[in-house]
Amino acid sequence: MPLHRDQIEDALRTVQDPDLHKDLVTLGMVKRIEPGEDRIALTIELTTPACPMKDRIRADIERAVREKSSACGFGEPSIEVEFTADVRRPNQKLRDQGSPLPNVRQIIAVGAGKGGVGKSTVATLLAVGLARLGARTGLLDADIYGPSAPTMLGLTDLPTAARGNMLVPFDVHGVKAMTIGKLVDPEKPLIWRGPMAHGAFKQLATQTDWGDLDYLVIDLPPGTGDVALTMAQLLPLTGAVVVCTPQRVAQDDARRAVRMFQQLGIEVLGVVENMSYFVGDDGKEYDLFGRGGAEVMAQTMSIPFLGAIPITMSLREHCDLGTPLGNWTGPGAIGPSIDELCRSVASRISIASLQGRYVQPTLSVT
Ligand code: ADP
Repeated sequence: MPLHRDQIEDALRTVQDPDLHKDLVTLGMVKRIEPGEDRIALTIELTTPACPMKDRIRADIERAVREKSSACGFGEPSIEVEFTADVRRPNQKLRDQGSPLPNVRQIIAVGAGKGGVGKSTVATLLAVGLARLGARTGLLDADIYGPSAPTMLGLTDLPTAARGNMLVPFDVHGVKAMTIGKLVDPEKPLIWRGPMAHGAFKQLATQTDWGDLDYLVIDLPPGTGDVALTMAQLLPLTGAVVVCTPQRVAQDDARRAVRMFQQLGIEVLGVVENMSYFVGDDGKEYDLFGRGGAEVMAQTMSIPFLGAIPITMSLREHCDLGTPLGNWTGPGAIGPSIDELCRSVASRISIASLQGRYVQPTLSVT
């Protein structure tokens, strides 16, 4: 006799999502239970295709169902677990309030205290990495003072297109991308006054036809300026990722960026240490800037540390050539550290969504 559906469900009630600290049944993740004498098939819906805990959840399910089966005096069926994912919205409040981007589930800003620390590089890797892990992802290059997406994504020779009054995003490297860099003359210096920056961001964000997205990654200009303020007022953000190099000076600036997000009511999902160390041709790792500095900063500010990216020649080359997917191929590729970073960001987002920590920023000017 096979285990009954209810008995299997009971077993699944003992399996917790390690990040969300609740059981799979309570979290509504069990989508299909197919009982059988020799084979039990299950479909579990995760909160992100980039879930870092997939293997652990699978092992816990197999153990729990096997234990249940032997406790009930049945045999040892094979257990097949299929994973799907539904990236959930931050909370009900968001649905009620209405978002100018109703088909985008999670919006993540990537910011930095100052330029040149690799903010655009991290935003690009995050977007392409999440897409590789199976999420529908967009990248909005809102760095109006120095847009990098045309180069980093290889958009320079691609024509821009519009449908009605909506911009059609570029469909590249598995990601839907839009950048101010394709809408203005690249040779002309851009001087933006506050209201112009506000208008440009609003148009880019809301007049791009993003379609259905799990994640929209926004590459902000460096520092603590007008665009971040507009974004916070306009869009329901899930949270922000702050990029920092290990050096002291970079940390001081990153701290200011963290405070800015916090003041705007945007949850800081965590800090990424870019240029953490250098990997030489001999494969040796050199701590050029004092590896671990950003992690210490994150600890002192009580915010999560999301991961580190080394400096490598090939990453620099792929940035210049507009071939981000190349970071996942070839010997010594940094793909695995990017995947780890994507998984930890996705996991922080799932936790923030479940806890419904999203708050609409309120700004008072005195
Ligand atoms: P920011 O957005 O903070 O101004 P970028 O992401 O545009 O900085 O980085 C500037 C350049 O530095 C990139 O085009 C890339 O060539 C290089 N770069 C950034 N991070 C790395 C890294 N980890 N390894 C190698 N080169 C990097």
